[in-house]
Amino acid sequence: MPSTAAEVVILGAGIAGCALAYHLASRHVGPVVVYDPRTPGAGATGRAAGIVTEQLWSRWDVDVTRESKAQYAALSARWDPSAYTVNGFVRWAHGPEAQAALGAATDRLRSWGVSIEEIAPDRLRERVPWGRFEDAARAVWSPQDAVVTPSTIGEIYAEGARRAGADFRLGTPMESFARSAGAWELGTGAARVRAGSAVVAAGAWSKAILAAIGHPLPLAPYRTQAAVLRPPLGPEVFPSVHDIDEDVYARPEAKGRILAGDGTRLVEVDPDTFRTGADESFVAHLAETFGRRFPGWADAELVRAWAGVCTSTPDRRPLVGPVPGAEGLYAIGGFNGFGVMRAGGVAARLAELLASGGSGPAALERLRPVLPGRFAGTPAPFAPRPGFTLDAGDDPRY
Ligand SMILES: Cc1cc2nc3c(=O)[nH]c(=O)nc-3n(C[C@H](O)[C@H](O)[C@H](O)COP(=O)(O)OP(=O)(O)OC[C@H]3O[C@@H](n4cnc5c(N)ncnc54)[C@H](O)[C@@H]3O)c2cc1C
Repeated sequence: MPSTAAEVVILGAGIAGCALAYHLASRHVGPVVVYDPRTPGAGATGRAAGIVTEQLWSRWDVDVTRESKAQYAALSARWDPSAYTVNGFVRWAHGPEAQAALGAATDRLRSWGVSIEEIAPDRLRERVPWGRFEDAARAVWSPQDAVVTPSTIGEIYAEGARRAGADFRLGTPMESFARSAGAWELGTGAARVRAGSAVVAAGAWSKAILAAIGHPLPLAPYRTQAAVLRPPLGPEVFPSVHDIDEDVYARPEAKGRILAGDGTRLVEVDPDTFRTGADESFVAHLAETFGRRFPGWADAELVRAWAGVCTSTPDRRPLVGPVPGAEGLYAIGGFNGFGVMRAGGVAARLAELLASGGSGPAALERLRPVLPGRFAGTPAPFAPRPGFTLDAGDDPRY
């Protein structure tokens, strides 16, 4: 059986795995192999909405997302300008609790240098002319936020990684993955890869892969839904919008269409057996909210609707870095529904760590808030709590 020696083997060719391969190959760390039993974009990346916002929970998260955004802007400008558009993000609240949380979040975001403006609710229609906002009490606008086409960004990273020498092995089932004789060994049909370091970047599948090798991390895959609609009329580009109380969001899509979502189900699912079609109740709720909130879109035609699987963690922060107690093993995932906007930034930081031999203090520090080592011992079951959060991070340093 042919065996390939690699420096790093990456399990998973979603946006996180492809971005990591790109950054590792660009750093010339040695041979990089990316393995996926499916194809790039087969997981959550191919089903994501692609909103990229700086309205996040901590200074660290804002920095990482800015780094992603800079990478996506540069790569799209070079390879596919349609994959990245700066359109801004408007959010509003009507309930008293959401209003207070939005006010506090706005102050925090400003203190981290995020460009964010309060908009008087009666002026919301200047940004979102097809909406109805009589009950909105507080609203904000972050003009530098963007939308991307996630699968295209993933493909651009994969192509860049290939050009820099990374080897992609796609479309064959995984037969074995284990530590043996001082290396990680991956067996896929007729081939073997042996690597000093392995990175589990398998999205919702990471939980089972890590558990099977005896290094479980607290991850909970959950199902979330989105739809594309075609409104009778409307601008080609508009700001992404989020109604905080209804938890409904929408962004512009190509050809004058709208991509909208709200359908997160807070129960754990199996990424191999989840229902990939959208629920009737999701489509009905979207239609009802659109009719009430966006009368200009009330007659929008449903083009398609679907579900994908994201991965939650107990504290809603990603898991990126060395897996505790497992030599040469790393994880990148647990994005709690926001992996597109974080992937480029965290992948660059993880590549820096791997290039430093896995223990560079500066590289570890740049991943500190998301290192898997913050969870000790056997993970206890927990309920997923993802979504656009208005919470603050707990650690004031980050
Ligand atoms: C409806 C919806 C809307 C979303 N909207 C947004 C948004 O607006 N903004 C945002 O930032 N994020 C959004 N997300 C979240 C985002 O899609 C994910 O966080 C991100 O795509 C995760 O990327 P990933 O590479 O970690 O995982 P994935 O894209 O899931 O990739 C994992 C890959 O691992 C592979 N794999 C499985 N088993 C194995 C194995 N044994 N070995 C190797 N590989 C394996 C899979 O085939 C898959 O290709 C949304 C998600 C959904 C579903």
